[in-house]
Amino acid sequence: PLLLNDFLDRAAKLYGQKLAVINCDGREYTYAELNERVNRLSRGLQSLGVQKGDRVAYLAPNTLEMLEGFYGVFQIGGIIVPLNTRLKPEDYLFILNHSETKVLVCDQELYHQIAPIREKLQTVENVLIHYADDSCEDIHYDRWLAQFSGDPIERPEMDEQDVCSLLYTSGTTGNPKGVMLTHRNNYIHALSVQHHLRVSDKDVLLHILPMFHVNGWGSPFYYTANGATQVMLRKIVPETIFNLIQKHKVSVMHMAPTVLNSLLQYYDQNPQKFDHDIRVVIAGSAPAPAFVTKVEDELGWEFIQVYGMTESSPLSTFSPIRSHLEELPKEQKYRLKAKAGIPMIGCDVKVVNEYGEEVAWNGKEIGEVVTRSNGVMKGYWKNEQATMETIQNGWLHTGDMGTVDEYGTIEIVDRKKDIIISGGENISSIEVEGVLYEHPKILEAAVVALPHEKWGETPHAFVVVKPGETLTEEEVIQFSRSKLAHFKAVTGVTFVEELPKTASGKIQKVHLRNAAWEKMG
Ligand code: ATP
Ligand code: MG
Repeated sequence: PLLLNDFLDRAAKLYGQKLAVINCDGREYTYAELNERVNRLSRGLQSLGVQKGDRVAYLAPNTLEMLEGFYGVFQIGGIIVPLNTRLKPEDYLFILNHSETKVLVCDQELYHQIAPIREKLQTVENVLIHYADDSCEDIHYDRWLAQFSGDPIERPEMDEQDVCSLLYTSGTTGNPKGVMLTHRNNYIHALSVQHHLRVSDKDVLLHILPMFHVNGWGSPFYYTANGATQVMLRKIVPETIFNLIQKHKVSVMHMAPTVLNSLLQYYDQNPQKFDHDIRVVIAGSAPAPAFVTKVEDELGWEFIQVYGMTESSPLSTFSPIRSHLEELPKEQKYRLKAKAGIPMIGCDVKVVNEYGEEVAWNGKEIGEVVTRSNGVMKGYWKNEQATMETIQNGWLHTGDMGTVDEYGTIEIVDRKKDIIISGGENISSIEVEGVLYEHPKILEAAVVALPHEKWGETPHAFVVVKPGETLTEEEVIQFSRSKLAHFKAVTGVTFVEELPKTASGKIQKVHLRNAAWEKMG
């Protein structure tokens, strides 16, 4: 069977003396040492009664302890429930009870989110605390781990279709749903990504994407399997990121476009001559408007765009690989990379119209993106109805609308729920945002539909202005009119200090829509 511990087994065997992890606090471990810690953890969890199929939840930033948790839990057949670090206590209460979690592993820094709901947790028997300080009345992780032997353990009988994680979706469009992913899902997904990314033992990954989110979740597998070094990042601070890139000769980073944007801003304000070994930066999880040019031209980093969702482990598409692009004129290359990309090896991806027929490959006809692959989830935990609605005849319906160009490149036009319908015309909020990002004074922008008496809906923009700049509503409206067909131009602007975002850096348009509607009365 294809089991995820194969990846660490391979690394411990082939790259045992290689640096596996550089932790946020400076501690360093080889793959052999990481493997030992993992064995200790598995033994420890068994001593707490964790058995095959039991849920172990993690509330932690990107740390060594989070990474060893993956392999330590999988090795004994456990299921990890990674928790988004930016939720509220009530959300944790819901997820921990809904997933019937047995053991909760929590970073001391985040424990205050659990304390208020502690008494209401119905199934949690033990709480382990990473980086515990004196206030900790639970199990002090480091001391506890040290008691157990790091020798190989006997693993239970397992099948590749066994669930290894319950990942709750980002909750961008509503309540998060518990996505059941299997060992096979993650294993084959890792092989597909590896085909495109070609990770080697020379690579140094800086873990920027939170590992509790599906994008960050999937990445340790292919970096581990190929003996790369993984640098942990506790908190996203542009200055820290630039320092780590140089200090550890980072070669690969994955991040949300909003984080990439913050790095570009930092670089603009602190122009510095800086050496780096970055070979590729991968952006996904949300559209990346207008960033490609700046990333490649100003920072000199090769940019790759990916598209996916929790329900598909996550990735389904990848920017076409380098050699295809090198022959193209720069403009055309950047335009291509601004799109979601081509289907990954092993993924069937189609854009279909309302009758389920594939749309023409002309870059114009819009339909829903559907995908079929080994990465597609087993289903939503305790929600058969939603599973049946989402997976039909083996095809995962993404809820994302897209087009396909003549080369088979898929472009995400919008989420079905975010499309603005004005006077019977569909407007892609992403397209309008892309134009706003071209304005030199705009830092961030998000566009949502506002109800309109005559047109049904019109595009309304939420805008964050760059520090020290001023901008008026009229200027923004005129700018969008100068660049877009008039029916697509924004009709109103709300200036805000910041945009509401999920922990993975996605803009939560639901909240913006609510705010706009409230304002209208
Ligand atoms: P929820 O399903 O709970 O509302 P969510 O859909 O944001 O939250 P995720 O599974 O984290 O949860 O995100 C998947 C979605 O992110 C995709 O369906 C798509 O809308 C968006 N997305 C991911 N990558 C890209 C990309 N490259 N371009 C545009 N959108 C993207
Ligand atoms: Mg979703």
